[in-house]
Amino acid sequence: MSGPRPVRAPRGTELSALGWQQEAALRMLQNNLDPEVAEHPDKLVVYGGTGKAARDWRSFDAMVRTLRTLKQDETMLVQSGRPVGVMQTHEWAPRVLIANSNLVGDWANWEEFRRLEALGLTMYGQMTAGSWIYIGTQGILQGTYETFAAVAAKKFNGTLAGTITLTAGLGGMGGAQPLAVTMNDGVAICIDVDPRAIERRIEHRYLDVRADSLQHALQLAVEARDARRPLSIGLLGNAAELFPQMLAEGAPIDIVTDQTSAHDPLAYLPIGIAFEDMADAAAKDPAGFTARARESMAKHVEAMVGFMDAGAEVFDYGNSIRGEAQLAGYERAFAFPGFVPAYIRPLFSEGKGPFRWAALSGEASDIHKTDKAILDLFPENESLHRWIKMAGERVHFQGLPARICWLGYGERDKAGERFNDMVASGELAAPLVIGRDHLDSGSVASPYRETEAMLDGSDAIADWPLLNAMVNVASGASWVSIHHGGGVGMGRSIHAGQVSVADGTKLAGEKIRRVLTNDPGMGVIRHVDAGYDIAERVAAERGVRVPMREG
Ligand code: NAD
Repeated sequence: MSGPRPVRAPRGTELSALGWQQEAALRMLQNNLDPEVAEHPDKLVVYGGTGKAARDWRSFDAMVRTLRTLKQDETMLVQSGRPVGVMQTHEWAPRVLIANSNLVGDWANWEEFRRLEALGLTMYGQMTAGSWIYIGTQGILQGTYETFAAVAAKKFNGTLAGTITLTAGLGGMGGAQPLAVTMNDGVAICIDVDPRAIERRIEHRYLDVRADSLQHALQLAVEARDARRPLSIGLLGNAAELFPQMLAEGAPIDIVTDQTSAHDPLAYLPIGIAFEDMADAAAKDPAGFTARARESMAKHVEAMVGFMDAGAEVFDYGNSIRGEAQLAGYERAFAFPGFVPAYIRPLFSEGKGPFRWAALSGEASDIHKTDKAILDLFPENESLHRWIKMAGERVHFQGLPARICWLGYGERDKAGERFNDMVASGELAAPLVIGRDHLDSGSVASPYRETEAMLDGSDAIADWPLLNAMVNVASGASWVSIHHGGGVGMGRSIHAGQVSVADGTKLAGEKIRRVLTNDPGMGVIRHVDAGYDIAERVAAERGVRVPMREG
């Protein structure tokens, strides 16, 4: 029986597969499980509670073996983290097609999912865990930076200097919050129950200091705020206890959000259970644990609403905590908005979203060269320049060196083609993979997050992510995935991803041009269809065809 062992993607130009398209999938699967990248690699868990890269170690071994021998006209099929077939296709077809965690509507809940998971029949793929394009905390850093920049623009004259943000959750995604706040010049108090999560963020320079107590945290925060000095402070404890305590004590908090793993009640620590006992308690009595977690989330959210009533800017950061609190009977759970309708929808309407790439060479210099290419390509985009510069200085690479920036329709294809040319000319040491989060403009239906409060009420319409996956298959992506339940949990989202490999060939260039045009194009047409003016303008100006607007 094969079991846990350290996994690391090979670097350099020597291939262990039959071509770069297959080699890229192989390296990115391995990279997702690199101990520098994954939260719990021994359990194949990459991030987001229990988001996995492979169903079990046997499946992992079978995928590695298959990718190594997969031909240029073959496609490996992956069903919830297990390779189930290899089919002859053609060179324009994806080398891997992935479907993770999908359940029929009436069965789409955690209880049924867990039952099937225990039978070994499925796996939770989160968004980029099971689709092999997670690049560590940086992946979310830029989106989080943009969100806090939007908060600053909306309420604090364009800067978080002189403000204190309160949040919780320093995991794979939530760990980006402290750095995103300090990049916007603010002060952040970040609570987590896991001392390892705090240490890890300090090690990676995402978090500045750890406070010894709540009073210590507040003292450090107020001093830094008054000096308008950016500072992020880690605080060990349970957010369901500390948020209400801070509210009751009148802590001077300006902005409140949360990124604990609330989407999965078995990954949220209820009040009254010690962190060390969490795994046992959840395994022994999942139903009882779920009820207690939801009750605690209700207290947590009630305190967030209290801060809102006291004048703070409060938003849900995409983890479904409002939905869980409501299930526990807290009536005002949805009193504050989700971050997408509050700050991100205008970007989605332009097809803008989290474009990312990784260097298969393993060389940081390849990423630095691509950073420069992005700056050259988009000289007029100031916030992009600010981000790329700060990322270059402050982002610690995890696993294969990678970069993310938000680009829109008409921009991603330019960047992709430039990258492919740089591989072709030998300027880069090896090919790049170009992908994105499933949290993107036209690739997800998620009524508590990306599609919350759509103008036309189409929040739960899930045809869009399915069309998105099909269009990426038809356009020549290297691997394409359709998942259910990522971000906000079972029954609450359906979403799709694509990754394309820039291997420097003419064929890759052709594919990349189509994929990186059509993929964000889905975002534009989805928002035109829902009636967003920005999307109408972008479609008209940049030539996106929308039949219902023609003739
Ligand atoms: P994670 O599992 O890696 O980290 C969650 C952290 O929460 C852990 O460190 C855990 O110790 C901590 N935690 C659990 N219960 C707690 C409690 N009661 N008090 C304080 N800390 C507690 O998850 P992640 O990858 O960081 O994701 C966090 C959440 O954000 C998930 O629900 C995920 O779906 C969501 N998410 C949001 C976005 C977005 O763009 N906003 C993107 C991806 C994921």
